[in-house]
Amino acid sequence: MKLNYYGKRELKHFGKIIFEKKKEIFENLETLKETMLDANSGEYDNDSMNFSMHAEQGSDAMEREKTFLFASRESKFLNYLDDALKRIKKGNYGICVDCQKLISKKRLEAVPHAQLCVKCKLKKNSGRKTL
Ligand SMILES: [Zn+2]
Repeated sequence: MKLNYYGKRELKHFGKIIFEKKKEIFENLETLKETMLDANSGEYDNDSMNFSMHAEQGSDAMEREKTFLFASRESKFLNYLDDALKRIKKGNYGICVDCQKLISKKRLEAVPHAQLCVKCKLKKNSGRKTL
C-alpha cells in the first residue's frame, strides 16, 4: 500500500494554524488566571465583612470550579496541539492512526490536532454508542 504524506508546504500551513490556536489558548488562559485571582481576592473581602454573604460565595465557588475545569480542558488542548506540532516535525502529521490514510485538509483546518479521519472518527463514535 502506498502511503501519502502532506508536503512541506502543507505542513507549514498547518503548523501556522496550530501556532495561532496555541496563541489563542495562551491568551484565554491568561484571562482565566486573572479572573481566578480576582475571585479569590473578592472572597477574602466578603469573609471579613459579613457572614450572610455565604450563599453568594457558594455560587462563586461554582463559578471558580467551572473556570478551573475550562482551564484544565484548555491546557489539555494545548498538549494535543504540541503533539500535533511534533508530528509535523516528524512529517507524519495528518495521517489517520487507524486506516493510515490522509486526513482531509478541511478537517485538519477545523481540528488541527485530529489523529483520525472523519470515517474512523465516526466509526469510533458509533462504537461507543452501542456500548
Ligand atoms: Zn481513518
